[in-house]
Amino acid sequence: MAQTFDLIVLGGGSGGLATAFRAARHGARVALLEPGALGGTCVNVGCVPKKALWNAAQLAQGQQLAVDYGFASTPGALDWERFRQLRHAYIDGIRQRYATRLMEAGIHVFAETGRFVSAHTIATSGGDELNAMQIVIATGGRPRRLDLPGFDLGMVSDDIFELRSLPRRIAVIGGGYIAVEFAGLLRALGSEVTLHVRNRVLTGFDAELVDGLTTQMQAQGIDITGQCNVSGLRRVDDDILIGDEVNGSCGPYDAVLWAIGRVPNSDRLDLEAAGVHVDEAGHVVTDAWQNTNVPGVYAVGDVTERPELTPVAVAAGRHLADRLFGGQADSCLDYENIPSVVFAEPPLAMVGLTEAQAREFHGDQVQVYRSRFTPLGLAVAGHTAQSIMKILCVGEDQRVVGFHALGPGAEEMMQGFAVALKMGVRKRDLDATVAIHPSSAEEMVLMG
Ligand code: FAD
Ligand code: NDP
Repeated sequence: MAQTFDLIVLGGGSGGLATAFRAARHGARVALLEPGALGGTCVNVGCVPKKALWNAAQLAQGQQLAVDYGFASTPGALDWERFRQLRHAYIDGIRQRYATRLMEAGIHVFAETGRFVSAHTIATSGGDELNAMQIVIATGGRPRRLDLPGFDLGMVSDDIFELRSLPRRIAVIGGGYIAVEFAGLLRALGSEVTLHVRNRVLTGFDAELVDGLTTQMQAQGIDITGQCNVSGLRRVDDDILIGDEVNGSCGPYDAVLWAIGRVPNSDRLDLEAAGVHVDEAGHVVTDAWQNTNVPGVYAVGDVTERPELTPVAVAAGRHLADRLFGGQADSCLDYENIPSVVFAEPPLAMVGLTEAQAREFHGDQVQVYRSRFTPLGLAVAGHTAQSIMKILCVGEDQRVVGFHALGPGAEEMMQGFAVALKMGVRKRDLDATVAIHPSSAEEMVLMG
């Protein structure tokens, strides 16, 4: 027999959970479908286990720094399997807390996939039929490989978290967030890393800071092979070789990681049964209010064409639930000036425009302030790696349109500057702010 709800949410990841909890708080009767682990990509195979590994990598580097400071210690290797278990236990706890909260919120959870039968009806893989006037698609995305000979010899990011030991020699194909983050953390933990990039790394970030990061990655021993055009992978005995039309045969490697972007999970939803449009890449097309072209059907998070970031999926879902069930008719996410951090070695953070974008939009009005320095914590030990900070302003009143930071602490620093940007900060406001000394962040208010 069909069951009726006010809202059906497809997907129990960042966006789906946020939508469901907020709608239930407003009194809606909610069904949530999640065939996999609660928490989706971020909790299980994304931000959380990645950040845990990044923290381990920071500790690995910290051990060496400690020796350089004069501590009588010998840097040791990470017990990979012990740490994998610690990570899994931590993530298990998050999932259990979600399960408890869902029960307490009165949300009906179906551990099944859903597909559209019509604009208001979902069929579950368990054979149930669910009806609702409002349906939210929050099915996220999945990693992809290139369709080339031997493609399946390469892992994707999901697989990294299941590895039973650190790969000794690893090639990473791609130059985006995942490629740069894993290249950095695996190198810090002891792998020999080669990055195969077709263009530059991190094309969406400010080129000057990316150059600074690339220099540091190379100094750490990461081999960056540019202008790549991978033609296939092949196994020779226990090794994997990468065929490249430009660079010839590369390797041997013990493991290869594809990190060339993700595809939206929209292809198994029978969207045509509801008439929901997708774009060429398969993203569900939405307007500023997360509406699809079909009344009563919405989409949030990675399944849409928006930035693939957890806080974006969460915020979009909460705004949507406030609009549908909270009486806030105008509630929608402002997609401008979304801050972002690449958890590289060292971290790279930004909010607003890059210098290239600022010059494209504002031409000669752009004023650039920058600071390059070796942070005290490194300089004391004789290290020379440079942090870079950059502020982009426009117009006579020097409105800030971009903050950029590369270096230790950048990942924590940028959130506050993102608030300032959102509030329309001017350079004079930064100049009028007293510095916190000694810190790296103080550079942001001391640039002259
Ligand atoms: P997801 O979290 O992917 O959730 C979608 C859910 O839908 C899944 O659980 C899936 O099982 C379910 N589903 C699929 N099909 C169906 C169906 N037919 N019916 C019902 N359910 C279905 N973002 C950051 O902000 N910071 C980071 O540091 C960061 N690090 C990352 C590291 C990695 C390695 C990766 C891969 C991603 C990272 N991200 C990070 C991105 C972030 O994880 C995603 O943007 C976020 O998880 C998107 O949330 P979502 O709800 O749209 O999708
Ligand atoms: P990205 O979009 O960040 O990067 C994809 C990379 O793959 C780019 O370097 C791109 O090159 C390259 N590429 C694309 N197609 C090909 C191809 N055919 N051959 C060779 N290279 C190719 O994707 P990721 O997979 O790294 O990450 C997915 C998303 O997850 C990110 O966009 C991000 O939103 C999110 N994420 C966020 C994190 C965070 O917030 N810290 C961490 C990890 C992921 P080019 O630039 O030339 O197009």
